[in-house]
Amino acid sequence: MTPAPHADPGPPVLDLSGLTRRYGSLTAVDDVSLRLPAGARHAVIGPNGAGKTTLLNLIAGTDRPDRGTIALDGADITRTATARRSRLGIARSFQQPTVIGDLTVLDNVVLAGWPHHPERRGAWRSPSRYRRHTESARRHLETVGLADLAGRPASTLSHGQRRMLDLAAALAGEPRLLLLDEPAAGLTDGDIGRVLGILGALPAQVAVILVEHHVEVVAQLATTVTVLAAGRVLVTGPAREALAHPEVRDAYHGTGAASAAVAEAKG
Ligand code: ATP
Repeated sequence: MTPAPHADPGPPVLDLSGLTRRYGSLTAVDDVSLRLPAGARHAVIGPNGAGKTTLLNLIAGTDRPDRGTIALDGADITRTATARRSRLGIARSFQQPTVIGDLTVLDNVVLAGWPHHPERRGAWRSPSRYRRHTESARRHLETVGLADLAGRPASTLSHGQRRMLDLAAALAGEPRLLLLDEPAAGLTDGDIGRVLGILGALPAQVAVILVEHHVEVVAQLATTVTVLAAGRVLVTGPAREALAHPEVRDAYHGTGAASAAVAEAKG
C-alpha cells in the first residue's frame, strides 16, 4: 500500500540540544533540549533562579553555553554573534523596556527596524525609501495600539506603553522567533489584557518563547510549556499537561491560579 502523502514540516525553527551554562559551581541551565516549530507559542516557567532568563540569553546570544548546540531553521548558530542572530530573525522584548526617550515613538521603531530593512542602503538619501520604511514602522505601532502616539517623545509614555513600544521595536525586524521576558510584569490588569490581545494577534508564522510568572497569561497564550527547576527541564509538553504537574500546582498553591490555568490552557 502506498503511504499517504504528507507535507514535510521541515526543520524546526529552533532546536536546542543539551544546552548547559555554568557559573562557577552553579549550573544555571542544565542539559536543556527543546524543538519548536514555526508559529510555536511556547512558555518557559519555573521558580526564581530556575534558569529562565539565562536560557533566553543563550538563545539571543548575549550569553554562551558551556555545552550543547542551538540551531535556527536548521543552521547551527551556537557561536553566532548576537547582532547576526538578530538579522537572522531572533528578536527580544525585555522586562525593562529599552526605549530611547529623546526620540519619538515612531523613530524608536524606525531605528529598531533599520538594520533589517532590505532597502536600508542609501535610504537616508532617498525620501521614498525612507517613507516606505516609516510606513512599516507605523504598521507595527498600530499592531501594539500606539499609532496615535507616534509623534510623542518616548519619554512621555507610561510603563505599560513603553512595554508596547519595546514590543513594536522587536516586531520591526520581522522576526522568525520572538523572545518575550515577562511581558506582563509590573503591568496593571488593564494593560495585561491589552498585552494578551496584542500577543494573541501576532503573525501566525512567528514562533514565540514567553518567560512569564503570571500563570493565567501562560494559559491564554501558550500551547506548549517547559517547566524549569534548578536549570533542568522538569516537564515539557502541551500546556494543560505541564501546568497540571504537581510541582507547578505547589508553586501556585493557595492562589487557585494553577487550577484555573489548567482549565483555561489551550494545548
Ligand atoms: P527569575 O525568575 O528570578 O528571573 P530565572 O529563572 O530567570 O529567575 P536566572 O536569572 O536565569 O533565573 O538565574 C539562574 C541562576 O543563575 C540563578 O541562581 C542566578 O543567580 C544565576 N546567575 C544568572 N546569571 C548569572 C551570572 N551572570 N553570574 C553568576 N550567576 C548567575
